[in-house]
Amino acid sequence: MDGQVKFFGGAAFPLEMHKVRIVQKLTLVSVEERVAAIREAGSNTFLLKNDKVFLDMLTDSGVNAMSDRQLAAMMTADDSYAGSMSFERLRTVTQDIFGKPFLLPVHQGRAAENILASALVGKGGVVPMNYHFTTTRAHIERNGGSVVELFLPEALNLDSTDPFKGNMDTAALDALLKREAGNVPFVRMEAGTNLIGGQPWSLENLERTSEICRRHGAPLVLDASLLADNLYFIKTREAAQRGATIREITRRIADLCDIVYFSARKLGCARGGAILTADRALFERMQPLIPLFEGFLTYGGMSVREIEAMAVGLEETMDFDMIRHGPEFISFMADELDARGVPVVKPAGGLGCHLNARAFLPHVPQNRYTAGALAAAVFIAGGVRGMERGTLSEERNEDGSERLADAELLRLALPRRVFTMSQVKYAVDRIHWLFENRNLVGGLEWTEEPKILRFFSGRLKAVGDWQDRLAAKFREDFGDSL
Ligand SMILES: *Cc1c(COP(=O)(O)O)cnc(C)c1O
Repeated sequence: MDGQVKFFGGAAFPLEMHKVRIVQKLTLVSVEERVAAIREAGSNTFLLKNDKVFLDMLTDSGVNAMSDRQLAAMMTADDSYAGSMSFERLRTVTQDIFGKPFLLPVHQGRAAENILASALVGKGGVVPMNYHFTTTRAHIERNGGSVVELFLPEALNLDSTDPFKGNMDTAALDALLKREAGNVPFVRMEAGTNLIGGQPWSLENLERTSEICRRHGAPLVLDASLLADNLYFIKTREAAQRGATIREITRRIADLCDIVYFSARKLGCARGGAILTADRALFERMQPLIPLFEGFLTYGGMSVREIEAMAVGLEETMDFDMIRHGPEFISFMADELDARGVPVVKPAGGLGCHLNARAFLPHVPQNRYTAGALAAAVFIAGGVRGMERGTLSEERNEDGSERLADAELLRLALPRRVFTMSQVKYAVDRIHWLFENRNLVGGLEWTEEPKILRFFSGRLKAVGDWQDRLAAKFREDFGDSL
């Protein structure tokens, strides 16, 4: 029994296992105001202001709804620079869940990556991983290292229904560790692989990865930021783990890794982050960098309130009812879009529903930022803010040429417990309309292009007047509706 509720009428939809006790008012502005807002934002959804956004599906980072128990814990936080009991409570929880006694607090996930890369990666170091994340790669490269991605072909096949597209290519890992002996500071495995659509790996694949790392003496580092979704998929898709509890699967995963780090903006529905290990030597290499970059060792740049919320949130993540809400809503949204012919990544992963922008807008070339254009168009269509995960999110090659992304995705994140079923249905309706009018959508070009992490603050504009023409068609079809 997994607590699934079946419906008498035969319909299938996810059921919220929580009730809403605090609400925030939303506004939906007219389509003309949406065009003005996206233009003012340089056609970059990161630069939109929230008073023009109806459904903020940019990310699940730091915007998941917190529980009553998390908010209550924040009120009892122990405020002190050193020796805070809030930190001790967090250490008890992380030791209990992950079985790793050494805890380094950091202000968010990328700060953990800075510490890891600064402590362990040197010039010429090679870091193999199942797939990169933007900030991870930036930190490794900043320290003179490079990233090698060892995914399997299914990972980038948006039509493949493989349940574990996040798996490591373990044969390639074995070969690489032989070839680069002594040159690999660590191997990184990312849970719920962010940039390929929140796709998970299987516990079996992690076991093989871990065995190969141990054989070659390379530490295995887990990026557990999106672990909650990966846990859900292991339990529901990996036959051998069906009978295991979330807590048991988590402990098994942690035991296979030498270092576990995460962004608590995602894992645990709080803020902040942490690095965990049971290896004293690794701990001692990283520890001196915490006071340098983050803060004293018992807060690491976080407020003690965040630390309390994280401790309770991690504990709540061990509840299957809690972690299934995200993937079930995402799967519902993907199925509804799929049924209307809209190209989505299937099977649905965690984190959010991912639109396949190249199939949605085949006439917009990658160097006109297919997924970026779709992000702007979805905002115009419905005030829904998504995030481009494609060529815009890449950095240029050293010679200045574009590094074209493997996939052009528009991610519509579903922060946990934030949106209702009818809001998801509204988003589906507006995206369906946009798909029927996709020929109106054109590309984007730069007006200001930053050198580092350009997708965050870069400004672009529409090639031609397609944004106004899209709004005019909306008016024609919807009359005076918002
Ligand atoms: C978000 C994220 C990070 C970075 O965490 P921040 O808290 O945003 O700095 C690292 N890895 C993965 C997989 C993420 O999703």
